[in-house]
Amino acid sequence: MKLRGGYNITLEGRPAGVVTKLPEPQRLCIPLFSRRFNFSEVLVTDGQVVSDGDTLATDPDNYSVPLLAPRGGTVRLNDTDNHIVLEDLACPAGKAHTPEKDLPHIVQKMGSAGLKRYKLLTLGAWQFFSDAFTGDLPDPMGKPQAVIISTLSLEPYVARGDVQLLNRLLQFTRGLEHLQSLLEYQPIYLVLPDIKSEFATRVREQIRGYAWAKLIEIPMKYPYDNFNILARGLGLKGADGPVWSVRTEGILAVDRSLTVSKPCLVRILAVGGPAVKNPVHVKLMAGYPTDSIVDMFTEGDCLRAINGGMLSGEAINTAKSGLDTEARGITILSEPKEREFLGFVRPGSDRASYSGCFLSSFRSKFSERLTTALRGEGRPCISCNYCEEVCPAGIMPHLLHKYLYEDLIEELDEARVDLCVQCGLCSFVCPSKIELKQQFLEAIDLIAKEKEEARLEKEAAEKRAQEEAARREAEEAAANEKAKADDAPVEDSGE
Ligand code: SF4
Ligand code: SF4
Repeated sequence: MKLRGGYNITLEGRPAGVVTKLPEPQRLCIPLFSRRFNFSEVLVTDGQVVSDGDTLATDPDNYSVPLLAPRGGTVRLNDTDNHIVLEDLACPAGKAHTPEKDLPHIVQKMGSAGLKRYKLLTLGAWQFFSDAFTGDLPDPMGKPQAVIISTLSLEPYVARGDVQLLNRLLQFTRGLEHLQSLLEYQPIYLVLPDIKSEFATRVREQIRGYAWAKLIEIPMKYPYDNFNILARGLGLKGADGPVWSVRTEGILAVDRSLTVSKPCLVRILAVGGPAVKNPVHVKLMAGYPTDSIVDMFTEGDCLRAINGGMLSGEAINTAKSGLDTEARGITILSEPKEREFLGFVRPGSDRASYSGCFLSSFRSKFSERLTTALRGEGRPCISCNYCEEVCPAGIMPHLLHKYLYEDLIEELDEARVDLCVQCGLCSFVCPSKIELKQQFLEAIDLIAKEKEEARLEKEAAEKRAQEEAARREAEEAAANEKAKADDAPVEDSGE
């Protein structure tokens, strides 16, 4: 597959390829929100005792996707805003768990494939799926035009696919078979790293004979694992229907739900970043206190924790909060409070740059110890074109930035800012430190809002025109009736 742009960022703090178990927490503080979900329908009461796998809340706007209790315990609803706290935690029972009461109805209505999809939703595996074009949760009962499965996670500091698959290749292939049984004839694209890698060889050997899985090999270059970029590269079109996309952990969750009917309660996450002492992968459940993770893996207190990878994650306030249900990694950077003296004039033997303008470009295999320090001020665009070179979406970030600067929203829309996949590479390489990705995110929101307002206005105008036409029609009909009545001959009363 031909892909454009992309860039491999080499930073210190890459998590080791082993999975470590962290101590069981005293309590869990589970957010009622995540990047895509808002679990606003709370189904438990304060003080209620729940078992692991019970549904605590659902998201009514996302097919009632459930928030499952990762451990048994006592519910506290008023401890932390927008969180469910679980105290007095019990060891996981690990029992098979199926909400039996709803099954006959589902089987009757949709057959065994419907039952499987229902199980994926209620046991927490469906949350790992997204639509490649919109990023939203797809309809679990819907029909995709294709499925893309990626075994790669190329953003710095998110959990790697090869680590997720350690000793679990069999579960992965079983999950693939389950997924295939939900489809009719739609293709499954399995995205693997470059043909020569040992990991690719192992996966390929395991799925030999699966004629329905088309193997797609891509170079290990960020963000070639982005589902939107992959779908476009495969020639798929958003107008032809949803494209289900899922990563390694999602296929393992499918296997768990459909082979042993157990809820998916733990995830493998990466804890990495230049401020982390021993970057590793860890097995954790939603609600695990983020401040404990930061304390366990770092020293010092001037730190910024990010939920997700280095380029697309979001800074989090670790106090009194826990991991959300979609977390794939925690990135931790040092946050210098003091301004660096003449930081911008240093020759940069310890600084990496896309432009290769620092002394570090003479060092081989160089990884930067990145911090949140800006080292100098933001500057106007110098038209260096680096952002366009790395952009995988084939748009011109510098041009979009100039349109935005001049408030040319229509031109921005025509230049297809909507194709931006929020990979953050343009912001990363920009020598003028322009927050391009953030600007485009806001612009996309603004354009969507303006379009929605225009649509509502058009609808209201059409409604007004229809009402006006109906009123005129009624008036004309009344006038005709009256004219007919006036013209009618007066009957002789016979007196
Ligand atoms: S414009 Fe969007 S897709 Fe292109 S590099 Fe920037 S963030 Fe990535
Ligand atoms: S990388 Fe920054 S300075 Fe260079 S063209 Fe893009 S926006 Fe301008």
